[in-house]
Amino acid sequence: MLVINKPTETNTDLAKEYVNGVFETVKSRNANETEFHQAVREVFDSLVPVFAKHPHYMNQGILERMVEPERMISFRVPWTDDHGHVKVNRGFRVQFNSALGPYKGGLRFHPSVNASIIKFLGFEQIFKNSLTGQPIGGGKGGSDFDPKGKSDAEIMRFTQSFMTELSKFIGPDVDVPAGDIGVGAREIGYLFGQYKRIRGGFETGVLTGKGLGYGGSLARKEATGYGTVYFVEEMLKDKNLSFNGSTVVVSGSGNVSIYAMEKAIQLGAKVVACSDSSGYVYDPNGINLTTVKRLKEVENKRISEYVNEHPHATFYQDYQGIWSIPCDIALPCATQNEIDELAAKVLVANGVKAIGEGANMPSTLEAIEVFLNNDILFAPAKAANAGGVSVSALEMAQNSSRLSWTFEEVDAKLQDIMINIYRDSVEAAKTYDAPGNLVVGANIAGFVKVADAMVAQGVI
Ligand code: NAP
Repeated sequence: MLVINKPTETNTDLAKEYVNGVFETVKSRNANETEFHQAVREVFDSLVPVFAKHPHYMNQGILERMVEPERMISFRVPWTDDHGHVKVNRGFRVQFNSALGPYKGGLRFHPSVNASIIKFLGFEQIFKNSLTGQPIGGGKGGSDFDPKGKSDAEIMRFTQSFMTELSKFIGPDVDVPAGDIGVGAREIGYLFGQYKRIRGGFETGVLTGKGLGYGGSLARKEATGYGTVYFVEEMLKDKNLSFNGSTVVVSGSGNVSIYAMEKAIQLGAKVVACSDSSGYVYDPNGINLTTVKRLKEVENKRISEYVNEHPHATFYQDYQGIWSIPCDIALPCATQNEIDELAAKVLVANGVKAIGEGANMPSTLEAIEVFLNNDILFAPAKAANAGGVSVSALEMAQNSSRLSWTFEEVDAKLQDIMINIYRDSVEAAKTYDAPGNLVVGANIAGFVKVADAMVAQGVI
């Protein structure tokens, strides 16, 4: 259990001035990186009472150092398409903070990827990884490559080219990437193969999310979605609520979404809608997950095809409209800023009781404010979706010891970790006079461990 002293009012003005000053530097030094600014602002707003109580963090320049990545790598990724045309994408890896361990964080392949997206994700990852209680620092990477419509051979050529450059900067004790949007089991396999070929050794610990036959962990695929539901269930329990008997809406139909739906259904919920970037499906009888898994995990099809097999369901082309469906629990599991202020107001007007962020930064700052002002139970991403990276760290532990744990063992550890993250966040929120505010709680609980490690390691 995390122990934090109670803050006093002393130094509050100084702390506010300090936090706002650093934020202004972040904006001017990283002009136009709006997603990065948003992620930093959300954390900074929680930290004023921490600096008021512990001014030595200010003297040590902790925030100035935390917002500046230890290393930001950007590289050319040339590859040849099936017609023999040469294409060039941009690759990134941000090695944000190694105070707690090797950099750890996923790779995202999506056309929207740029320096701002990678830095927002990497910055969030520092605090998320700290919350897991495991020895991992924060990093993130990816490319503006669009996997949609590409053949297997094109995906392989691209990922091999990407890894040829990335391999210079990663390693089991240095930086350990994993998947994210657009990077699943197939891509991790190709990345691992190329790394092995270049480095000439079987270093299983260099990537997580690997296939089970070559060093992967059972329950890694399920971990982020299951973990989000475990976290939300714990939050609901404190209010004598539960998934059992509730109506749930889950955005996306990718890795996080599918396994959030699966666990919610196992706990007795009825999931009535899910989506992809082309639109959403509403099934009043409850989404048939077997169909969604086949369409998405096996056949690589659009979610609109669901209604061909379930004609009582309806497909709507507007993916954001999913938030207009009345529900008890909403789990945004697709992408950043998918719930804006208006969507949040509609969810509240329709009686939503809890939000669990499976995706990274899916709610805008304004949307979060709407939820908190209306006393909606709100599970912020960096706490609620930490299950994926937690099991990635368990995969690293299994690789180091050359052991494989059973699904049940990994799942039990995942549940314990999610419950601990919830308890630590609740405790930190209480200690800093924001009881029930898990945004503040998670930010502070995550921050303190990293800050203390940075102080202990000197000015580096
Ligand atoms: P994924 O398997 O690629 O699935 C992403 C889903 O979101 C797909 O259904 C996709 O639809 C939809 N989507 C993506 N971009 C969208 C957009 N701009 N608008 C609407 N829908 C969009 O990715 P994932 O691993 O589930 O990741 C989902 C979220 O969880 C991301 O925010 C990621 O950073 C976060 N996360 C993932 C993990 C993990 O272990 N995988 C861990 C922590 C957090 P299309 O197929 O149509 O693009």
